[in-house]
Amino acid sequence: MVDNICAIATPYGVGAIAVIRCSGPEAIELVSKVFDGKNLAKCKSHTVHYGHIIENGEAVDEVLCSVFKGPNSFDGEDIVEISTHGGVYVTNRVLGVLLDNGFRLAERGEFSKRAFLNHRLDLTEAESIMDIISSENDIALKSSLGSLRHQTRNLIRIFRDKILDILAKIEVNIDYPEYEDSVDVTHEYLSPLIDDMLIDMKKILDNSEVSTIAIHGINTAIVGKPNVGKSSLLNMMLDENKAIVSDIPGTTRDLVEGRLTVRNVTLNLIDTAGIHETDDYVESIGIERSRNAINKADLVLMVLDASNELDDIDKELLKLTENKKRIIILNKSDLKQKLEIADAISVSALRSEGMDLLSDKILEITSINSLKNMDGNYLNNNRQVALMKKAYKSLEAAKVSCEMLTDVSLIEIDIKDAFDALGEITGESYPDELITALFTKFCLGK
Ligand code: GDP
Repeated sequence: MVDNICAIATPYGVGAIAVIRCSGPEAIELVSKVFDGKNLAKCKSHTVHYGHIIENGEAVDEVLCSVFKGPNSFDGEDIVEISTHGGVYVTNRVLGVLLDNGFRLAERGEFSKRAFLNHRLDLTEAESIMDIISSENDIALKSSLGSLRHQTRNLIRIFRDKILDILAKIEVNIDYPEYEDSVDVTHEYLSPLIDDMLIDMKKILDNSEVSTIAIHGINTAIVGKPNVGKSSLLNMMLDENKAIVSDIPGTTRDLVEGRLTVRNVTLNLIDTAGIHETDDYVESIGIERSRNAINKADLVLMVLDASNELDDIDKELLKLTENKKRIIILNKSDLKQKLEIADAISVSALRSEGMDLLSDKILEITSINSLKNMDGNYLNNNRQVALMKKAYKSLEAAKVSCEMLTDVSLIEIDIKDAFDALGEITGESYPDELITALFTKFCLGK
């Protein structure tokens, strides 16, 4: 049963305006009861009205009420959005009045969940709302907006339609063997259709390696033995990108985890190995800690001190990172150079020289710019990627079965699995717990 819910939709704290969102079958009538102004129940949808929220005959705040009638509202229900003055106290007072008059507080993500259940949004679109809110760079924002405009839904629909067509034909063959006009779904018929889909999915999966980095950032470790200049390098990167740093507490010595954006690439920094000073000899070598960080990282910034020859620790770290996406950084370019390594870049963290080289290299290695040419042909997050990989595997199995001339009714099972996995991406076939887990990731009021 759908009841009447409300929540503060704007961030907690003092601002010029706060918005309280109210949704449910009686939302408009219930707000009307505490609204001194026009009778909202008689107002047209998509209109805004001035008045006061009242309690015991007294005005609590001067507000604007925006009325949206279902099903043409964000979540498909009747909605009133109340814009109050943005103080913490006054906003909570208005919320309190609503809670005393028939509303209950919305759960995290409940508005979006309603929108999904009322078919106003599919899962990819709901996820993209979350992505838009947390965007830290231009590309992330554009991709998320694309997805909100049905980009991902359409991508998946093409595959689902093709597969549905095959499944339907197989069913006709099985149920009406005597029906002569139907297509005979043979192995020769199936093989090229499956091949085409595999090729298209592979392309999307390859593209998605870039798009998920663009949207969610790349897990990055700054690796190197003590004193090569890791903290200095980080400081240089922070200095150059001051305006867009987030979550990085205090000095680099305290660094645990943080994000920074370098020319549209968001780096999710992993607790940087060996960056903390320590008396423990084994730890001071930093190899064990580096190993950990390297395992977690999708990009390694491997720092070497170019004013010294490579020692065993450097060599070990180089070996540990050789199969990773990595940028070798020869630091201390201001001193006499004793190192030369192909494809490495030279910087002087101390003098803040070489940031451009490093930024270029980060752009190059993450291929972020190629996203522009992908024309929306990618997915937006790891959940979607994992499900498409599942669909890909099922189709691969179907392909092998075709080659082995397995009975078509058995191949149909794999094809159906692919269909279901793709449906999970948009939420067309989904388990309840997954839906709840996904929506609780939302902020309150979304
Ligand atoms: P970490 O242990 O790898 O984090 O290294 P630090 O960033 O703490 O640097 C170790 C020492 O090297 C400090 O004395 C820095 O001032 C110095 N250092 C760092 N980068 C440079 C550089 O580019 N040139 C020179 N000459 N010294 C540097």
